[in-house]
Amino acid sequence: MEYRTLGRTGLEVSVLGFGAAPLGNEYGDMDEAEGARAVHRAIELGVNFFDTAPYYGRTLSEERLGRALEGRRDEVVLATKCARYDVRGFDFSADRVRASIDESLRRLRTDRIDLFQVHDIEFGDERQVVEETLPAMRELQESGKARFIGITGLPVHMLRRVADAFPVDTVLSYAHHDLLLDDLPEVLGPLRERGVGLINASPLHLGLLTESPPQPWHPAPQAVKDVCPRIAALCREHGTTVMEVGMQFALASEHVATTLSGVGTVEQLEMNAATVGQRADPALLAAIAELVAPVAGVTWHEGRPENAPPSLAG
Ligand code: NAD
Repeated sequence: MEYRTLGRTGLEVSVLGFGAAPLGNEYGDMDEAEGARAVHRAIELGVNFFDTAPYYGRTLSEERLGRALEGRRDEVVLATKCARYDVRGFDFSADRVRASIDESLRRLRTDRIDLFQVHDIEFGDERQVVEETLPAMRELQESGKARFIGITGLPVHMLRRVADAFPVDTVLSYAHHDLLLDDLPEVLGPLRERGVGLINASPLHLGLLTESPPQPWHPAPQAVKDVCPRIAALCREHGTTVMEVGMQFALASEHVATTLSGVGTVEQLEMNAATVGQRADPALLAAIAELVAPVAGVTWHEGRPENAPPSLAG
């Protein structure tokens, strides 16, 4: 395993992080025992960064991760979130933030959260996030319940604005630094130079860059989904898989401290961990970029209209 410093937090995190959304059955039913095996195998392989949220499986992911980490809590850097509790269920108020961390501490069977993050800021009022949510989280940091605080979300421009307005410790961006879309370095890169720890999540574009059909809820535009089987076929022709190339691309990135991958099985975890330290074939990456060119920069938006990225603002 390779490790990098997560910005000014000083935490040394594995370049491959464990995303616990699948533990909450967000990618289909996952057996709890298989999930626990994946957690333990990840620790064995040197993974030390674990990310969950009350939203994943509507608390199921936190419950399961808490049970799986019993007796091993001190071996990992544990991240969770607040403010998002359901598909359309959000509460960015200071009171909810304070209650939320206590609930998460209980479910995760611990007395501190290493990284406490606002979940999907694009669903909130930007001013409230900056003036109420984050200051309440900073107080929790001062109380010792949270060691560091951060923000998460999809629109990279909004993440950047909020990080410019409030000195967060970390920024988690997803589906913006992978084979399909790669504007994280340009938009969020300058934050890293200021000591903000950058986290890249969903390196396989929430499962789109795999051999399986997308989840029914997958929000990417159809044109983006349509290009993926062609990328998968091209990778097979080159004697590899789209999952392998996707993970090689993400894990080799110097722009972020860690990449959060979600796995459904121990086998997937081992496949992904095997790509640490590997480099994707540059000729294959160039051929993939050609396939992706017609949908270059295409993303989606689900939050408040005023938080839409410039390409979708209208
Ligand atoms: P991902 O893009 O890696 O997609 C996961 C999907 O790909 C799952 O269906 C998994 O089974 C499949 N997969 C992974 N490796 C595979 C392999 N080797 N072979 C076949 N299939 C494979 O990641 P993700 O789960 O979308 O995101 C990772 C984590 O990042 C989440 O679990 C969560 O912790 C975090 N995240 C956070 C936010 C946020 O805070 N707003 C958003 C997205 C993700």
